[in-house]
Amino acid sequence: MNIQLIHLFDIKQLMLIFLCVFFTSCSDQKTKKKGEIAVRHETKLEQESNFTQQKITDNLYVVKSNNYNTNVGVFIGNKEIILIDPMTGSNNHHALLEKIKELSNQPIKYVINTHHHEDHTGANSFFAELGATIISQENIKYTSAKYGVTFKDKYTLDLENERIELYHITSHTFDDVLIYFTKNNTIFMGDTYMTNFFPHFYYGGGSNHHIDSIDKVLSLGDKNTVIVAGHGKLSSNKAELNTYRKNSIQWIERIKELSLAGKTPDEITQDEKIKQLALAFCGNNTVHTQTIEKTISVDYNSSTPLPENAKNYEGMYQYKNGEVDELIFRDKKLMLRRKGAYIFELSTLSDTKFHIKGQVPYRYVSFSNDGKELTYFNGKESQIAKKNNK
Ligand SMILES: [Zn+2]
Repeated sequence: MNIQLIHLFDIKQLMLIFLCVFFTSCSDQKTKKKGEIAVRHETKLEQESNFTQQKITDNLYVVKSNNYNTNVGVFIGNKEIILIDPMTGSNNHHALLEKIKELSNQPIKYVINTHHHEDHTGANSFFAELGATIISQENIKYTSAKYGVTFKDKYTLDLENERIELYHITSHTFDDVLIYFTKNNTIFMGDTYMTNFFPHFYYGGGSNHHIDSIDKVLSLGDKNTVIVAGHGKLSSNKAELNTYRKNSIQWIERIKELSLAGKTPDEITQDEKIKQLALAFCGNNTVHTQTIEKTISVDYNSSTPLPENAKNYEGMYQYKNGEVDELIFRDKKLMLRRKGAYIFELSTLSDTKFHIKGQVPYRYVSFSNDGKELTYFNGKESQIAKKNNK
């Protein structure tokens, strides 16, 4: 099951990258002649080499490869460079390094990740080998991304000319980080905000967390704070984030309303209101059935509370092939995780059967009545793991 599960994620991530590239926001097409000086808080872009860039302040740039739609932050300190999300690794890291060298010759001291997805962390190893320290939220240990220093809730980097505050949130994934440059008044939101895609909160705890994360960003800084999305436009502002928040709430409520009225995910994709919102999110009104299915499964299929004995399921479960899954009960949530692989929240189907949040509805884990055996069903086949009594 696990190989299939991992492959499924790879495919999903590739699809997301593809969709993000495909749905590049029209506003990114606004380019300006090379050499003009971009002014802070204006969305004037420069086209140079294979990268589009925006100068946010004298110290802070957002750059984007023309091949990939990930927004990469480059902070230039007095003695160091800090990189946010060095996008995908394959073949692009050298080009990114060249791009950075155009901006400054300082050493790259830190790489900060907004979350573990490959299109944000792919070049972590490359920059770590050049001497950079990678900073991520600690749940990145349960993914395949390269990491270095980790933190739990909050982390602060005090530099000569900047103080960077990192906040752990869960929305898009379980290792989401908001990166707040307090002096340059800019917040990197990773994929908790994309200006060219649907709200994407299937892995990190559902729509409530999605809205909470936006509210956290709106509570930081001031009305001029620059917002950097994970994909899409190079920079946004709080007014645009507020519109995105409003649209997100309408999206979540409309899907809920239609779902509770008995509409199928397929029918929901054809709803006029849903199509209108898709146009606002993505720039076109195509909605895929799976997008709706996942929103329903994360939000509305999980209203049953966990059983009272949920904590008893905590422990390590070993499969025949030697792989081990861990069950933990934390913050009133039952989580399934594996080092170097994945972390999921489980929601209740019955006292012994749990849906894996963020997965299509038919994937589940169940426990034997004595709690000594876990069965993972991937939609096609089951695998059984035995509880380790250590
Ligand atoms: Zn992502």
